[in-house]
Amino acid sequence: MQKCRELAETAAFNRIEPGDPESGLKRGFITAGVSYLYVKEAFPEAAVLKLGMCWPLPERKIREFAAMVDELFIVEELDPFLETHIKAMGIACRGKDCIPNQGELNTAIVREAITPGSGPALFEPVELPNRPPNMCAGCPHRGIFYNLSRMKVFVSGDIGCYTLGFLPPLSAMDSCVCMGASVPIAHGMAKALGEDSHNKIVSVIGDSTFIHSGITGLINTVYNNSAS
Ligand code: SF4
Repeated sequence: MQKCRELAETAAFNRIEPGDPESGLKRGFITAGVSYLYVKEAFPEAAVLKLGMCWPLPERKIREFAAMVDELFIVEELDPFLETHIKAMGIACRGKDCIPNQGELNTAIVREAITPGSGPALFEPVELPNRPPNMCAGCPHRGIFYNLSRMKVFVSGDIGCYTLGFLPPLSAMDSCVCMGASVPIAHGMAKALGEDSHNKIVSVIGDSTFIHSGITGLINTVYNNSAS
């Protein structure tokens, strides 16, 4: 842990961005993850200590940064993890007294929280055409579903993003009942249909779903000497 502490102090991923010295605000932010992007968009002129590793904290760097600014804000989503530890270091700062502790943040929320009534919304909502959900444009599994669709096999699907393979234009999933059901359904069909089902049933299941509950169905399939 001591090595990690030293790494946190010296690594470039925990960096101080001094901001625009001409702005005169001397407002500083300690933040991490996506909240960093909201801070940069809302207050591009501000000084920022961007943490790329949230534990252990780079205490020397935090003290150095806090001494650089007049007003220190901690911007993080949900619980005040960084804020609690930084306050415990005896450093005066603000955080959840103005930043919401529920839901996701965005640039407008951060700006309004720090400088209430500072201006109109940063981004006007954009009207997008409605469209059905689909698998990601570059998803490598699209090719698998495309071929399964052409093979005219029964595809026993499961729970996950790939369930969207049932929608046109892929239209390559015939059942989806519950988590882990893809393999047992194929097993049951093979038992019911016998040899007629050979090479005509395919189960589709993602790795997490498989480990979570699909593996039990596969073990059962093997135990019962079933083809699928
Ligand atoms: S596996 Fe799911 S999340 Fe990943 S690219 Fe395909 S549709 Fe998108």
